[in-house]
Amino acid sequence: MASKPLNNIWIRRQQCPCGDWKCYIRLDGDESTTTTYNNATKSEIEPSTTPSPSPSSSSPLFTPYVGQIFRTDDEAFEYYTAFARRNGFSIRKARSTESQNLGVYRRDFVCYRSGFNQPRKKANVEHPRERKSVRCGCDAKLYLSKEIVAANGATQWYVSQFSNVHNHVLLEDEHVRLLPAYRKIQQCDQERILLLSKAGFPVNRIVKLLELERGGGGVELPFIEKDVRNFVRACKKSVQESDALLNERRESDLMELLESCKVFVGERGDVGFVYEFTSDESGRVESLAWAYGECVQGYSVFGDVVVFDTSYRSVTYGLILGVFFGMDGNGNAVLLGCVLLQDESCRSFAWALQTFVRFMRGGHPQTIVTDIDRGLKDAVERELPNTNHVVFMWHVVSKLGSWFSQTLGSHYDEFRAGFEMLCRAGSVEEFEQQWDLLISRFGLVPDRHAALLYSCRATWSPCYIRQHFLAQTMTPEFSLSIDSFLKRIVAGPSCMQALLEEVSVAASLSKQITPRVPYPSMKTCMPMEDHARAVLTPYAFSVLQNEMVLSLQYAVAEMANGPHIVHHFKKMERECCVFWNPENEEIHCSCKEFEHSGILCRHSLRVLAVKNCFHIPEQYFLVRWRQESSLVSEENQNGMGIGDDDCVQTFQSLTETLLTESMVSKDRLDYTNQELSALIDRVRNVAPANTCISHDC
Ligand SMILES: [Zn+2]
Ligand SMILES: [Zn+2]
Ligand SMILES: [Zn+2]
Repeated sequence: MASKPLNNIWIRRQQCPCGDWKCYIRLDGDESTTTTYNNATKSEIEPSTTPSPSPSSSSPLFTPYVGQIFRTDDEAFEYYTAFARRNGFSIRKARSTESQNLGVYRRDFVCYRSGFNQPRKKANVEHPRERKSVRCGCDAKLYLSKEIVAANGATQWYVSQFSNVHNHVLLEDEHVRLLPAYRKIQQCDQERILLLSKAGFPVNRIVKLLELERGGGGVELPFIEKDVRNFVRACKKSVQESDALLNERRESDLMELLESCKVFVGERGDVGFVYEFTSDESGRVESLAWAYGECVQGYSVFGDVVVFDTSYRSVTYGLILGVFFGMDGNGNAVLLGCVLLQDESCRSFAWALQTFVRFMRGGHPQTIVTDIDRGLKDAVERELPNTNHVVFMWHVVSKLGSWFSQTLGSHYDEFRAGFEMLCRAGSVEEFEQQWDLLISRFGLVPDRHAALLYSCRATWSPCYIRQHFLAQTMTPEFSLSIDSFLKRIVAGPSCMQALLEEVSVAASLSKQITPRVPYPSMKTCMPMEDHARAVLTPYAFSVLQNEMVLSLQYAVAEMANGPHIVHHFKKMERECCVFWNPENEEIHCSCKEFEHSGILCRHSLRVLAVKNCFHIPEQYFLVRWRQESSLVSEENQNGMGIGDDDCVQTFQSLTETLLTESMVSKDRLDYTNQELSALIDRVRNVAPANTCISHDC
């Protein structure tokens, strides 16, 4: 049966690693993330497509006036929506008028109670629940007209009529947020709702539960029971009809995905492309893993630290998306492999790791970085026994609120401060001691989340992971780089068959949009700096250069028996002990920075300088940070600019002139703004020379 592929819906996993399915994680900052439902299902699922700006938005909001100018009609709508929300009503789009030359040239926005309800058509007369309409003929409105403002046809919108006179009572904030236009189920609540609904909870109990989780009272939820009901129904509908049919579709879609794997090797000519899958006794695909030719190449240089991200799940297919990343010499995330797993069991994760290692020709990474997950932890221990397992600190910190803020109430902030202190513990003994104190002080001895954290402390606590090699993966920039990569995958036009293409495009895109960082200018007169500049990538060089600059603030004292004690000239910090062996040019510092990040520390650099060593010993330039290891091809580099420095300078001087000229008057400034936005759009449409991005899906 040739059927239209299912709409693949990705959501962020929120199950709590404690194992209790009723417990879930609300990520800090999730409120602002946009939903990953793609356009086709968006309008069905969201209670309203109206943008609902937060009422606490800090921009000053003036009453609209006749003659007010907007760049676009959408901008005007957003503005009026925000104004309405603060003033106790909502708006809707009414009439628009269109002409051949101008397109839409007039738009009317009106108060939600404008007009009168149409008498129901005959067929609906017997409808048992005749609802009372809120429409009462209110005349509050904002009408917009479009005008041409420049010879090139550029247009703008102005307010042609405005009235804020209402013939009804305006609502208080606690009621206004319940108007349909402002109600919205945020992404962070969506999975929770689906999960509870799947577990058989009726909608009214789901709402009660969500209220309780937010501290009760009912006033906190940005949606009402009806929205939840609609949402659940729309999801069911978008995932379509009966389970039997759905399973059949899932099966055929996954088979097709498998087919596209074959195509990748054959027609697409990616000879290095590899894939493997597992199937159950009736031949149905369970899990699938794949890697592109480039991944294997990347792993050979950057496979020392691997990040295994498992934060997204497909609602449609019930599959977990796992993505393996490495960090390249420029500090960016590079794709190393992908898996789709049927569940998050230890068995599935173990298969993922085994397969990944096979793809990468048997090499185990030194360090693997993941989220907290029991199944994953066991799988890593089993499959990669000699690999260090690390959990990103932000995976821990982002869960603290969900775990402890309700239990601790007003003491939570104090707890957070204590936790941060704990993370600064200098040794394992110190950590253990502080942990006991913290847990007993806040009465968390029997708490299951505290127990979970403690049981995996060796993977996240800085004093434990200090000894593991992590390159520069612990930086916020690197997390962001992974995050935007994943968002590109899940936001794409997503049917399962396009996933290989999708991921491959995201991988090549991330290479292109990565700005080529120019080398920073020289900051010290140390010959070591010249040496490093000649060998390292700009990124690695800038990290090392920073250490060099700071090294100048350190004093060195040589002990009789060999080691050098290095300390800051005034800050009270722990002293470092540096061993230098001029024969084999080996240098070791007690801070372990080189072992941890692959970049020499300021203390070692200081000792080298004091010992009249004017170059950096070769073994301290790791292959992964060297220019020759960069994966960016020559062709690609040439495509980026004609002599980077010249190009940048020309740009800077042009923009400076533009700014000076534009600041002369408001008209000029507006004009520049408008033209620049258009220009940026046009530039984005120019395809990079060496890629062809197409979706036939
Ligand atoms: Zn939990
Ligand atoms: Zn009104
Ligand atoms: Zn050091």
